[in-house]
Amino acid sequence: MAINNEYLAGLYERVIKRNPNEPEFHQAVYEVLESLVGVAEAHPEYIERGVFESIVEPERIIKFRVPWVDDNGKVQINRGYRIQFNSAIGPYKGGLRFHPSVYEGIIKFLGFEQIFKNSLTGLPIGGGKGGSDFNPKGKSDMEVMRFCQSFMTELSKHIGADTDVPAGDIGVGGREIGFLFGQYKRLRNENVGVLTGKGLNYGGSLVRTEATGYGLCYYTEAMLNDHNSSFEGKTVAISGSGNVAIYACEKATQLGAKVITMSDSNGYIVDNNGIDLDLIKELKEVQRKRISEYVNTHPEAEYHEGCRGVWTVKCDIALPCATQNELNGEEAKTLVANGVIAVCEGANMPSTPEAIAEFQSNGVLFGPAKATNAGGVATSALEMCQNSARYSWSFEKVDKKLKKIMEDIYKNSCEAAKKYGMEGNLVAGANIAGFLKVADAMMAQGIV
Ligand code: NDP
Repeated sequence: MAINNEYLAGLYERVIKRNPNEPEFHQAVYEVLESLVGVAEAHPEYIERGVFESIVEPERIIKFRVPWVDDNGKVQINRGYRIQFNSAIGPYKGGLRFHPSVYEGIIKFLGFEQIFKNSLTGLPIGGGKGGSDFNPKGKSDMEVMRFCQSFMTELSKHIGADTDVPAGDIGVGGREIGFLFGQYKRLRNENVGVLTGKGLNYGGSLVRTEATGYGLCYYTEAMLNDHNSSFEGKTVAISGSGNVAIYACEKATQLGAKVITMSDSNGYIVDNNGIDLDLIKELKEVQRKRISEYVNTHPEAEYHEGCRGVWTVKCDIALPCATQNELNGEEAKTLVANGVIAVCEGANMPSTPEAIAEFQSNGVLFGPAKATNAGGVATSALEMCQNSARYSWSFEKVDKKLKKIMEDIYKNSCEAAKKYGMEGNLVAGANIAGFLKVADAMMAQGIV
C-alpha cells in the first residue's frame, strides 16, 4: 500500500529512514498520514509551514539508566524513557508502561498516537508517553517500590503539573503510581497533580480507574445506537484482563451484554454463562494471579492455552483490550466469518492494518483506539482540573462528563470523515479531527 499523495508518501519514507527498526512507530505514522491526504490537499499552508514534518518528530526524547537493588541485594539496571512528543495544545500527557518489550519505538508509537487522542478529548493536553523495560511481574512490592523510586529520581527532572503529567499504562497501576508520586513529592517538596491515576485519598479522581473501559463502552454504544443497535442482548469477546479489560467487561455487562471471554498473555477463558467479574477482579487486581485459575472456581468454564485463540470465540462485539498487534488479518477473518458486527479497540493499536481492512471491507463497525480508548486520558485531565482546584467531584459528575466526551468524540470523528469524503471511516475521522486542532495550534504558535 502507498500513500496517495507525493509529499506525504515522501515524508513517510523519511520517517522510516530517521527511525530505523521501529516498526510500531512506522505503522502508527502510516495510518495517520494515509488519513490526511485530503487535509494536505485542502491545506497547502500546513505543508509550507512544516506542520506535517514537525508532528512526526518528538519535541524531546529522554532516555535514562534506572539502577535498583533487588531483594537478594543484587544491582539491577533497566532503561527508562519519556518522550515529550507535542505540546501545542497543552502540557504533555500520557502513560508510563513497564513491560519487558518496551524500547524507544514502542514509546514513540504510543506518544505519537497520544497527540491525536488527547486532542480528540477536547481538553487542553499535549502528547507524551514513557516507560521502562522493567517487568513488574513476579517482583515483590518492595522491589517495585525501589524501582519506582529510582525511575522517578530521574524522571522528576523533566515533568511537572504544568509541564508533563504521566499516568499508568501496561504494568503501571495504582500501586506503581503511588510509589512514583511519593518519590516525586519527597524530591520536590510539592504536593501537586504531577501524576494521574492516584489513590482517592491523595488526589485521585473518582472514575479514573474505570475510565478507559467505561469510555470504550460509551463510544461503542454511541456507534451502535447510530446504527439502530446497542449492547443489549449481545455477546462480547474481550482480550486482556487488566485495567481496561476489567472495566470494559463491567460496563458492557451493565449495558445489557454478556461477556463470554477474557484472556491474559498465557491463555483465555470461555464462560458461556457470562464472565464472573468479581472473581476476575480478585484474581487479577488483588492476588495478581493467572487467568487459568478462573476454572478452579468455575469448572463449567473452559481455559485454553495461548492468548490469540480468544478471537476464535463466536461473538457479536469484539473489544481487544490487551496490547498492540494482538489481532491480525487471519483472526479478523475468523471474527467476520463468525458474524461479528462491531469491533472497538480498548488497547492501543491492537488491530494490524490487515485486520482493520478486513473489518472495514466487510461492513463491520470499527472504532479505532485513539478515539475509543481516549476516556482514560480524558478522565486524567479531569483529575488535573480537580487537583488544580484542590477539590473533588462526585462519581456521577465525572462519569457524566466522560460519557459526553466519548459521545462527542464519536460525533466529531463521523463529521470529520464525512467532510473529507470518507464517510463512515472512523479511523480517518479520528485522525483528521485530532490532527486539525493540533495543526492549527502549531500554525498559530509559529515555527517552534
Ligand atoms: P494492564 O497491565 O492492566 O493489563 C494488560 C493486559 O493485557 C493483561 O491482561 C496482560 O496479560 C495483557 N497483555 C499485556 N501484554 C500482552 C501481550 N504481549 N500479549 C498478550 N497479552 C498481553 O494494562 P492496561 O489494561 O492498562 O492496558 C491495556 C492496553 O490498553 C494497552 O494497550 C494500553 O496502552 C491501553 N490503554 C490503557 C489505558 C489505561 O488507562 N490504563 C488508557 C488507554 C489505553 P498479563 O497479565 O499476562 O501480562
